[in-house]
Amino acid sequence: MKKVSIIIPAYNEEETLPLLYERLKKLMDSIDNYEFEILFINDGSKDKTLEIIKMLRAQDKRINYVNLSRNFGKEIAMIAGLDYAIGDCVVFMDADLQDPPELISEFLKYWEQGYDDVYARRKSRKGETWLKKFTSKMYYNVLQHLTKVPIQKDTGDFRLLDKRCVNALKKLRETQRNSKSMFSWIGYNKKEVLYDRDPRIAGKTKWNYKGLVDLAIDGITSFSTGPLRLSTYIAIPTFILLFIYTIYVILKCLTLHVMVEAFQATILLILFFSGIQILLFGIIGEYLGRIFNETKNRPLYFVDEYNDNKETNE
Ligand code: UDP
Ligand code: MG
Repeated sequence: MKKVSIIIPAYNEEETLPLLYERLKKLMDSIDNYEFEILFINDGSKDKTLEIIKMLRAQDKRINYVNLSRNFGKEIAMIAGLDYAIGDCVVFMDADLQDPPELISEFLKYWEQGYDDVYARRKSRKGETWLKKFTSKMYYNVLQHLTKVPIQKDTGDFRLLDKRCVNALKKLRETQRNSKSMFSWIGYNKKEVLYDRDPRIAGKTKWNYKGLVDLAIDGITSFSTGPLRLSTYIAIPTFILLFIYTIYVILKCLTLHVMVEAFQATILLILFFSGIQILLFGIIGEYLGRIFNETKNRPLYFVDEYNDNKETNE
């Protein structure tokens, strides 16, 4: 029987865990052609989360847990989950029931059809402010603009990944992680499933606007070195301006037989030296970008099939 690992990062989720377990138990008991593992990653919770997980595990042997030594953040909790999951596929889920577990049976249906990455796309986002919706939409647009890798819209971490995607992701060991960009980057056969995102069932969100801004910056900088090119792009118009103004000044001096005036010389000098400086920053940026990409030490590619055989990335 195939095994499904449901990975759930949990940070101070004492209020939601019992409710979450109820829903998951109902789901797991209703699907009988798969074995299940619920893998909790306790991300250094300061409340009773770990005790509750241990209590649940005493009742239900399908529950496993990893207790991290401190709070590392959701991204790191997720890769720990991938490292410890024993299933033939994994499902990422939040602990707060914003992602309906019932969707997992639909994920499994598509997985059986041969899709490797079945992700849930939000039709609606209940309980979120328009500001959060607007900023996240803008963010997607900027991100997609900066990179050639297609990015899935309105998608979070709620998804099913085949074993070979798991193996692929485990090879991306960078410390500044951005899962969303990694899911896109590894590729493979993707399938979207639409759903309504519910509000958090209990407890409080761990995100605040600073956290979101940090996440956005991490997303952009981990996806592309585009921002480093900014200097080069600014340098070009500066030099064009310098060129045009130089011609103008020279022509004016020649035709009217006057000397170069002090303010004209000043403008020319400012344009020249600021142009040089921006250009030098750009050059440093180019090298920095290359170093950045190399230090990530990513595999260069993943193979989907070799002579009709699916590549597993082991
Ligand atoms: N989480 C975590 N470590 C953290 C912050 C959050 O493991 O440092 C978990 C949290 O327990 C939840 C999931 O990540 O299962 C999503 O967090 P939350 O619901 O607070 O985020 P939101 O849904 O508001 O974006
Ligand atoms: Mg949530």
